[in-house]
Amino acid sequence: AAEEGFDPEDVEGAIEAAGHGPLPVLAVVGRPNVGKSTLVNRIIGRREAVVEDKPGVTRDRVTYEAEWAGRRFKVVDTGGWEQDVLGIDASVAAQAEYAIEAADAVVFVVDAKVGATDTDEAVVRLLRKAGKPVVLAANKVDGLSGESDAAYLWSLGLGEPHPVSALHGRGTGDMLDAVLEALPEAPQQTFGTAIGGPRRIALIGRPNVGKSSLLNKVAGEERVVVNEMAGTTRDPVDELIELGGVTWKFVDTAGIRKRVHLQQGADYYASLRTAAAVEKAEVAVILIDGSESISVQDQRIVTMAVEAGRAIVLAYNKWDTLDEERRYYLEREIETELGQVAWAPRVNVSAKTGRHMEKLVPAIETALAGWETRVPTGRLNAFLGELVAAHPHPIRGGKQPRILFGTQAGTKPPRFVLFASGFIEAGYRRFIERRLREEFGFDGTPIHISVRVRE
Ligand code: GDP
Ligand code: GDP
Repeated sequence: AAEEGFDPEDVEGAIEAAGHGPLPVLAVVGRPNVGKSTLVNRIIGRREAVVEDKPGVTRDRVTYEAEWAGRRFKVVDTGGWEQDVLGIDASVAAQAEYAIEAADAVVFVVDAKVGATDTDEAVVRLLRKAGKPVVLAANKVDGLSGESDAAYLWSLGLGEPHPVSALHGRGTGDMLDAVLEALPEAPQQTFGTAIGGPRRIALIGRPNVGKSSLLNKVAGEERVVVNEMAGTTRDPVDELIELGGVTWKFVDTAGIRKRVHLQQGADYYASLRTAAAVEKAEVAVILIDGSESISVQDQRIVTMAVEAGRAIVLAYNKWDTLDEERRYYLEREIETELGQVAWAPRVNVSAKTGRHMEKLVPAIETALAGWETRVPTGRLNAFLGELVAAHPHPIRGGKQPRILFGTQAGTKPPRFVLFASGFIEAGYRRFIERRLREEFGFDGTPIHISVRVRE
């Protein structure tokens, strides 16, 4: 039964807040120690010390959701990606490359106390070529006296320097206003889908799992290289490949090819590439080497794709080398290590022999279908009504929180907003997610559920 007393504007507001789809991406770029991580924490409104991470160690998370003046966007912190592994210049160039490829706008952070260095000027040249909107943050302007330092940064030719103190918050509001002006409403990357271009696949996985072998196997000779960003430092390359009678765009395949000249920091570079490819794609085909134990690095890549909200297919490669014993242990590892994506379609392939290549496209299509599923509000509420009646939330403090009403706020991936009469526990949320999946089949897609409590 429909709930009495529901204010439709309430529902609309919640849907608005839950977002309709992919968010535009803001990358924060700059030399080490200029204060990028501090600024990112400031933007996302958190104080957790991301800053403590060991240099050179790639963090699990680089992307955060943020909101300013009622608009939501993603922030990419490049601060943890650098230092020792590559030299300063290479690391900053790699960040800029990421920003150029995957971001919709860039905040370029300069330490106003130090002023513009040669490295800063080199990055400016990269950013200018890319043509993405740039907001210049002159950081470490903790007081009025620092403002004149900031003014020197006009010389970078990026327009007005915004004096900020990431540490104390000074000036960050004005800077964020400028960011919102620079940031498009929707991410550029999704314009391709809107006009019905080929679906975008990121083929990802840790080094040596067989990505380039797989690409070669499925594509054979029929690859069309689409270089959409000619003229940038290192060209990201997309390739059009026909599979199962459909043309697909494999994004960022330059990252799949071997880069022999990049021995040092290769792992670092690979994870940077992975993040960029995932950001550009609709579906991530995650390749895992079935002959080796599932590693933390595999899990990290999976987490990256889940958090980016992409459709996901898991492909276990090198199946030709697995004996019975290994197959047994692999199944156990999948259960324990990859439970978070138990919903993803799975294929067991061999890039070497071509085993089960024909199953790849159906799996991708399944995942994309799940990713785009929309459940009509009527059906959703009929389902929720029965579910809640049969399995009520446990009583807490003498009260029983109830789910009153739900609606799907968006797709790609599916996002739900549930209205409840009280706090809904995590365990019950997971229960609802599980039952939603059983009922509506969101195979191959993460789903987001947010709960609004009505007082
Ligand atoms: P990143 O390497 O660019 O991510 O830089 P971090 O965010 O790790 O900051 C480097 C150092 O600069 C840390 O010690 C911060 O506390 C300091 N810092 C960051 N922002 C400010 C600021 O606005 N004012 C001052 N005085 N110090 C800052
Ligand atoms: P990438 O780094 O993920 O692109 O991995 P590559 O495609 O370069 O493959 C790494 C190594 O694994 C190469 O020696 C490949 O020949 C080998 N390889 C890739 N796929 C398979 C497979 O299905 N079976 C076997 N036996 N070897 C494979």
